[in-house]
Amino acid sequence: MSVDSRGRYTPEAMGEVMPGSEGPAGSRSHNLLSPRRASLMQEPVLVLNATYEPINVTAVRRAMVLMLKGVAQAEEMHNTEVHSAAHAHKVPSVIRLLAYRHIPQQSRALSRKNILLRDRNTCQFCVRVFPSSELTLDHVVPRSRGGRSTWENLVACCYRCNNNKGDRTPEEAGLKLARRPRPFTLHTSRQLMRLIGHRDERWRKYLFY
Ligand SMILES: [Zn+2]
Repeated sequence: MSVDSRGRYTPEAMGEVMPGSEGPAGSRSHNLLSPRRASLMQEPVLVLNATYEPINVTAVRRAMVLMLKGVAQAEEMHNTEVHSAAHAHKVPSVIRLLAYRHIPQQSRALSRKNILLRDRNTCQFCVRVFPSSELTLDHVVPRSRGGRSTWENLVACCYRCNNNKGDRTPEEAGLKLARRPRPFTLHTSRQLMRLIGHRDERWRKYLFY
C-alpha cells in the first residue's frame, strides 16, 4: 500500500525508479532486527543521485541495504541507532547513490496505482480523500464517447461520484474536476517527496522548500 487510509504517503509510494529490486537482500536485513524496530525501518529516506539531485524516497531498511552493498552512502543521519548482532548502525535520513543513475523523463507507467498517487487518493469530483480500496478510475470523457485511457483522461474517483456521473461528461453530469489531469512528471515526484519529508528538516536543502 503506497498511501495509507488517511491519505499519507508511505515510502513505497515512490519506489519505482530505484536501482535493483526489492528482493532477498531486503528481507535478509530485516531478519537481523527485532520486531520493535520494524516501524523505524519503514521511516522514509530521501534518495539522491550521485549529482545530489533528489530522485526517490525509500524506507530505512532498503536504504541501509543499499549502504551495506556499497551502492549508496549516507548524507544525513538521524540521531537514532539500530543494532544488529554485532554492530550499531546510525539511521539514515538522506542517502546518495555513488554511481550516477539515468532517470528517464517519464519513468512512471500509466497505472491505477500511479493515477491514485498523482491525485493523492482524492476523488477529483467531490475532493474527499479515500483509501485506495474505495477509489476507482474514472474516464473523464467516457470510453463509450471515445475517451481514451491516458493520463489526461483518467482521474481518481469515489464509487459514489462514479455512479452519479455514469456515462456522461463532467459538464453533462454537473460535476467539476478538482484540477486538470496531467501526466506524472518530475514536478509531481518532487511534490510527493516534499509531502513525505515535510517533517524532516534534513531534506530541505535538497528539495528547496
Ligand atoms: Zn467523489
